[in-house]
Amino acid sequence: DEPVCECHQCYSGSDCSKFSSDCAANAGSGDPYFLEPFWMRHAASSAILVSGWHRMGYTYSDGSYISELLVKYIKNVHSIVGNAITEGKYIIFGSGSTQLLNAAVYALSPNSSDSPAKVVATAPYYPVYRTQTEFFNSRDYSYEGDTSLWKNKTDSNSIFIEFVTSPNNPDGKLTRGILEGPNVKSIYDRAYYWPHFTAIPSPADDDLMVFTISKLTGHAGSRLGWAIIKDKAVYQKMLTYLDMNTMGVSREAQLRALKLLDVVVEGDGKQLFQFAYSTMRDRWTRLKQIISKSKRFSLQKLSPQYCTFFKRQRDPSPAYAWVKCERQQDKNCYEILEAAGINGREGSLYSADNRYVRLSLIRSQDDFDILINKLKNLVAKE
Ligand code: PMP
Repeated sequence: DEPVCECHQCYSGSDCSKFSSDCAANAGSGDPYFLEPFWMRHAASSAILVSGWHRMGYTYSDGSYISELLVKYIKNVHSIVGNAITEGKYIIFGSGSTQLLNAAVYALSPNSSDSPAKVVATAPYYPVYRTQTEFFNSRDYSYEGDTSLWKNKTDSNSIFIEFVTSPNNPDGKLTRGILEGPNVKSIYDRAYYWPHFTAIPSPADDDLMVFTISKLTGHAGSRLGWAIIKDKAVYQKMLTYLDMNTMGVSREAQLRALKLLDVVVEGDGKQLFQFAYSTMRDRWTRLKQIISKSKRFSLQKLSPQYCTFFKRQRDPSPAYAWVKCERQQDKNCYEILEAAGINGREGSLYSADNRYVRLSLIRSQDDFDILINKLKNLVAKE
């Protein structure tokens, strides 16, 4: 049977076909609803049923909070995709990668209030690195602004912790760390390093990498992320953080992830990754076509690149559009798009100029189609 769904918020009527034309396009949050049709097609094989008596205790039978079987599945996914080296490394779970980002900052910081670690990132960057670091307000680390302020200035007593997002949120670029020197430690946020959003040129082998199920299977609500860690002492400090903070991740979340990854690896991952890539690529192609007719708006430049997973050159398929308003007078791009019924996110949220707006491309097909229509109308008016 067809699944029974609610209408999208912009549609009504018994068959959800009545569009209310004043309804704005939701291109704000990064909810990965684009993967919903895939899971509808795999509804039975991805379902779990948990009995009332199942896994009531705090730990697994080995006394840990981490399912060894899920670790095995995660390593298998990375080896099939070829996007990260896990051999000889430690893996730890967090309540989403969000929890692991701060666990990593804690673990890389010295336990010394005399010289707190300096936490930095390169604009435009995902705002949580700054807001979370400031929120926890520790004596051991503090947020110290953009990496550009510290280039060639890392030979002080302080430890530098550089956040690197690759591919980057918001602009989808494959980036590397900027700071160099013995005092520099990096946290590689690899949330988007999957064939959905980027070519995979080679397996990532950074000392500390963070991944999340949110952007791999789309199950952001399950709150499950993992870190791949080279150094044992850093791993142990992160384990301590998880012990203090939440005593690990919910067993149900781990069970659900296990079941989802079981479907992901079917046929060596071809089904999920092919679906995710072609959906995202088609969206980027449609968006680019419209913006290419505009003098007023532009998009980030991304090039086709060889992908070791697909074993061919592939077109860009970023998770977000990083739109720029080109006219001198259009200083607040967010307001211009908002007036045209498009809700994105302001550039200043990403520590960039407000001439930029981030538009989420990973939401539902309805959200994307509405976005495209609003943009078409806006460009046609130029
Ligand atoms: N890192 C980046 C770059 C993100 O964009 C996101 C989610 N939008 C996260 C981390 C957090 O993901 P989660 O906590 O759901 O794993």
